[in-house]
Amino acid sequence: MKIGCPTEIKPQEFRVGMTPDAAREAVNHGHQVLIQKDAGMGSGFSDEDYTTAGAHIIATAEEIFATADMIVKVKEPQAVERKMLRPDQLLFTYLHLAPDPEQTHDLLESGCTAIAYETVTDDRGGLPLLAPMSEVAGRLAPQVGAWTLQKANGGRGVLMGGVPGVAPAKVVVIGGGVVGTHAAKIAAGMGADVTVLDRSLNRLKYLDDVFGRDFKNQYSTAGATLDLVRQADMVIGAVLIPGAAAPKLISRAQLSEMKPGAAIVDVAIDQGGCFETSKATTHGDPIYNVDGVMHYCVANMPGAVARTSTIALGNATMPFMLALADKGWRQACADDAHLLNGLNVHAGQLTYYAVGKALGIDV
Ligand code: NAD
Repeated sequence: MKIGCPTEIKPQEFRVGMTPDAAREAVNHGHQVLIQKDAGMGSGFSDEDYTTAGAHIIATAEEIFATADMIVKVKEPQAVERKMLRPDQLLFTYLHLAPDPEQTHDLLESGCTAIAYETVTDDRGGLPLLAPMSEVAGRLAPQVGAWTLQKANGGRGVLMGGVPGVAPAKVVVIGGGVVGTHAAKIAAGMGADVTVLDRSLNRLKYLDDVFGRDFKNQYSTAGATLDLVRQADMVIGAVLIPGAAAPKLISRAQLSEMKPGAAIVDVAIDQGGCFETSKATTHGDPIYNVDGVMHYCVANMPGAVARTSTIALGNATMPFMLALADKGWRQACADDAHLLNGLNVHAGQLTYYAVGKALGIDV
């Protein structure tokens, strides 16, 4: 199979769909890999890294879309890319179609077959191609939160780990799933005094068994959340209610009860955020002040560490990419119900129920 990987063209996107290691594996499986010139630059991979792995460097996206049997990307195809998709072509990337009728319309019209990273599942009920980005965002949250807490950035001027004789920062993580657990681990590793709140008792039991000595956990009620948030130097928002907007757990009025200069890192901002005062920001201008509380609300946090994110995503997508290339999508999906769950579009038909329901299109 010819596998094509174009340069990402969405603004501020520095990741790339295939690492040189993934290209090498595909070549070893007998496939031809076409990488657009400079596609890996944003993640620190040169064209030479890809040619050494056995891939071919192609000058333009047009040539890749015209010849590849499968396109492997990171972000949903942009309008100009969607025009180049062909009926016999397979697209393997993040799509997030439910809030995007325009993209859905174009993909249906193209006649291509599209498998979305975000709806591929695993045996434990998880989303294995979304999890790596939650791991990255979670681990990044205390790092950017610590920067936000610095005096020159409008923060309280509190050091995460304190020093001998001075108490460490109090960090509260709301939501103990993938983002929250990774955030808590790193914050605790920096020496902070960390408490994780969650609504799932099973999740709290797991956190207690595995991390009982590293950080505390508490059941998430409105009262407990407000109590902890009032005392916190940093609050990390990491809740998710699948298929719904994030619940607003701290209101504008409650924000004024927080310590002046405290930092909020609302990772759940891509689902609307869990603070009433959260609004999406960019890496170029990441923080703002409301009532003396500094907010960091970047919606695509993994982009800040594009190289780590690209490699983490590549590790997760590679086995699926190889199965699709080796067997063709029909056989690969017939053999693996979890990969089949990724199928969103085929030959002008929407094939994913939740997307159809959100957009009012028959599935
Ligand atoms: P997850 O499903 O693994 O975890 C969510 C947790 O929230 C669950 O354990 C759930 O029990 C808990 N929860 C739900 N309601 C709660 C409440 N009221 N109080 C406390 N806990 C509650 O999800 P995840 O992968 O950790 O993702 C968390 C959020 O981070 C999502 O909105 C996701 O889209 C977002 N995210 C953002 C970025 C970014 O760049 N900003 C990157 C990755 C993920």
